[in-house]
Amino acid sequence: MNNCLIAKAATASSAPPFIESAEIAERHSAYLADESRFRGRAERLAFPESEAALAALLKAASEAGAPVTLSGARTGITGGAVPASGWLLGFERMNRVLAMAEDSDTGSFRIVCQPGLTLEALARSLARRNFEGSEQWPEAARKTLERFRAARAFFLPPDPTEQSASLGGMVACNASGARSFGYGPVRAYVNRLRLALIGGAVLDLRRGQARAGEDGAFLLRLPGGAERSGRIPSYRQPAVKNAAGYFARPGMDLLDLFIGSEGTLAAFSEIELSLEPAPETILGAIGFFPGEDDALEFVRNARKNHAGPEANPLGRLLAIEYFDGRSLDLLRAQKARQGGASHIPAFPASARAAVYVETGTSEAQLEDRAEALMEMLQASGSSPDEAWTATTGRETEILKAFRHALPEAVNQIIGERAQAHPGLTKLGTDFAVPDGAVEDLIRAYRDTLDNAGLEYVLFGHLGDNHLHANILPRTPDEYSRGKALYMDLARKAVELGGTVSAEHGIGKLKKELLKIMYGVSGIDAMRAVKRVFDPQMLLNRGNLFDA
Ligand SMILES: Cc1cc2nc3c(=O)[nH]c(=O)nc-3n(C[C@H](O)[C@H](O)[C@H](O)COP(=O)(O)OP(=O)(O)OC[C@H]3O[C@@H](n4cnc5c(N)ncnc54)[C@H](O)[C@@H]3O)c2cc1C
Repeated sequence: MNNCLIAKAATASSAPPFIESAEIAERHSAYLADESRFRGRAERLAFPESEAALAALLKAASEAGAPVTLSGARTGITGGAVPASGWLLGFERMNRVLAMAEDSDTGSFRIVCQPGLTLEALARSLARRNFEGSEQWPEAARKTLERFRAARAFFLPPDPTEQSASLGGMVACNASGARSFGYGPVRAYVNRLRLALIGGAVLDLRRGQARAGEDGAFLLRLPGGAERSGRIPSYRQPAVKNAAGYFARPGMDLLDLFIGSEGTLAAFSEIELSLEPAPETILGAIGFFPGEDDALEFVRNARKNHAGPEANPLGRLLAIEYFDGRSLDLLRAQKARQGGASHIPAFPASARAAVYVETGTSEAQLEDRAEALMEMLQASGSSPDEAWTATTGRETEILKAFRHALPEAVNQIIGERAQAHPGLTKLGTDFAVPDGAVEDLIRAYRDTLDNAGLEYVLFGHLGDNHLHANILPRTPDEYSRGKALYMDLARKAVELGGTVSAEHGIGKLKKELLKIMYGVSGIDAMRAVKRVFDPQMLLNRGNLFDA
């Protein structure tokens, strides 16, 4: 394997027509914001329908010196898809599955998708084993589809909650979600990318094809023979779930550089993903605990032997999610006033914490797994009689509704407060820390936010040592104080060996946090990598760092 990336000229095509700024503001203003509510502006908007059209747009942008922002489904919460100016490219017309292949060694399947395909559309096609346009696939792919239809069920595990997210956005942010405890983030499933560069050249990069040198050196060869050399940053990445900045390891597979690069190096035009066999059954449960320490003890026990699932009486754990006492209080209060949480069933009034777990199992082992789970809950003070369990789709929906009710309730409350104080937003952390440090981080959250008298909830992916603190400011003064404390807490997470963003990415809103993590030299090293692929600093300008 070598360290050279060889870009080719794209198939010739004309660029699609542009929608100009007045019409964008009038008819397409949804493209100017994402779920963070951060708003931007763009002079032109276009919807490429093919890689060739995308490459033509990126060539024209380079010639015009126009900044280009890539827009997926805009479910991101860091402003990554929000344009500051220039051209905006939407991927919703590049939304097909193009082919399917089989790994003969493992009997598993891979699919080739366009980046605008949404997670929910893909899940639907996989469940129905039916792909629109498959009659036009190459013959080998059509034969694979026949075998796929006869095989057991397969799925794409990463689940970033928002099912409307696009695959392009997910790969750009290295998205994960509740099941990343069992399955890891999307990086683990990306097998090959086709990438369109500013200037219009195209790279086809398969995992295992090109590696950086041990000193981080790599080379980009452009059509026509010009070469640019680069070096992977030498900063040390934390050994935790991480979506902050460029992936960087000596000798790394160069495919990993693009995954999680937040669209700053290239635009994905095709994404090949590995599928996983779906578990026969998923057992889900929510246990309610008398105290937060009881819940933390349960999680420590549940995580034991995670590396060897067969040795774990709970089997292959997929998700471990935590809700602190304040989260439960907020849900109770919202239910009492018929707010966002009115659709979830009542839960024990005395509970001061809750944990949601999911384990993948066979029908034959289901009873043993359920029994082991109930014993483990009881050992940490949670009554099995009060636990909610689920194995069917309907039951699982209730558990999911409980999980989703909290962020919905937070958003509802903040939405109401923002009417009185425009500009007020929630302040949500996305920090993860190494094993053994999460209790320290929880203590830091509590001490800092309690002392400041701020309203907050603590919840999330405790299995990955990754908790979201959501601060709910009531006034502009609380908002400013919350922001300052947020930075202190980010420093604490980094001090503990963690990351400032485990899954949401940095986008345009968390750049200051990235500086805490990698310092000025780390940011400069990332900027130098960007210049190799985008010397004019046009693509997704303003994401991760200032151009
Ligand atoms: C309620 C809620 C819960 C969430 N929970 C989770 C969670 O649990 N885990 C998690 O990981 N995320 C979560 N998210 C965040 C979000 O859903 C993910 O980051 C998602 O992967 C973004 O996909 P998107 O298509 O919406 O991307 P966008 O928001 O449109 O874009 C995200 C980034 O991808 C870039 N991009 C888009 N398309 C391309 C392309 N073709 N080529 C290169 N770059 C591209 C954009 O420029 C931008 O920088 C949550 C969001 C919400 C609103």
